Amino acid sequence: MRILFWAVLSLLLASCGGQNTDGEPSNDVVSQQSFKWKLVTAWPKNYPGLGTAPENFANRVKAMSNGRLQIKVFGAGQLVPALEVFDAVSQGTAQIGHSGAYYWTGKAKAAAFFTSIPFGLNAQEMNAWLHYGGGLELWRELYEPFNLVPFAGGSTGVQMAGWFNREINSMADIKGLKMRIPGLGGDVITRAGGVSVTMPGGELYTSMQTGVIDATEWVGPYNDLAFGFHQVAKYYYYPGWHEPGSILEFMVNKQALNSLPTDLQAIVETAARAVNQDMLDEYTARNNQALVELVNVHGVEVRKLPDEVIRGLRALSEEVIEELAADNEFAKRVAASVEAFKQQATAYHGISEEAYYRARKLK
Ligand code: CA
Repeated sequence: MRILFWAVLSLLLASCGGQNTDGEPSNDVVSQQSFKWKLVTAWPKNYPGLGTAPENFANRVKAMSNGRLQIKVFGAGQLVPALEVFDAVSQGTAQIGHSGAYYWTGKAKAAAFFTSIPFGLNAQEMNAWLHYGGGLELWRELYEPFNLVPFAGGSTGVQMAGWFNREINSMADIKGLKMRIPGLGGDVITRAGGVSVTMPGGELYTSMQTGVIDATEWVGPYNDLAFGFHQVAKYYYYPGWHEPGSILEFMVNKQALNSLPTDLQAIVETAARAVNQDMLDEYTARNNQALVELVNVHGVEVRKLPDEVIRGLRALSEEVIEELAADNEFAKRVAASVEAFKQQATAYHGISEEAYYRARKLK
């Protein structure tokens, strides 16, 4: 990754002098070739945060490449449905996609690990694991057979537990609960006696309104306000035990990526890295504002999940992850990598982030 950052810098410098850093003449014929890509997403076009990130990516790539790589962004359903992004990019219908890896557990069980793990890493830790702890290499190995190269594509930070039309006072209240919750979190709800379903964000408001589902998680105040869930749900529970630091993804068709000259490949990588951080910055700022609006303007009742429920869900989460690892060799490797990283991060963050949060509020 760092090598590619330097590569793009070297190429930018080389383009000024007509020579690369090795003193060889630059390949002007190749460098003038231009490309047009299609980017399919799992989000409504221009949806706050999730949908604006791929637009942001396309704009950055266009500017950095001086228009040599132009990317047209399609919202969910415009070119392919939300949950067909993986196949569309794998098969080359589009060159690049933006979505969440945990939508693809039907393709590869271990994909869930690369979005978020219940009671796992937060956003800062996920980014550290992916980029400096071996996570991205594992993710690329997992997607390799599908002709895809993944990049981290943004983070929402810690999510909310979700919107409920039923009070959750004990684990017994989860029995029979029909909830939209994808990935490993969904497996935990199923194990607790609930019914977990996966459906795209655009269908959630109506499904809550008509009672097709009793509860839904989505993201956090910024995105949840945009969908208007406060109009169709009674209680807004926290914390997002199931998605403590969800990473979104860019997935690129391998041939499409390889067909780019090295400077454009570096631009794709660098723009993805920039958007990945930018989204977390945006969510951090906007979630704060949106929570104030949900509570003060819309009178939303924000509730903490009882400790008994948190303990119950955590025990079930451990079972779900252990069973997945026992059942799938690749998942076992990823689980071991994440768990080792989490132990270190928990120890250090106990005396840094966590200690600081406490210090800031100490009376
Ligand atoms: Ca979510």
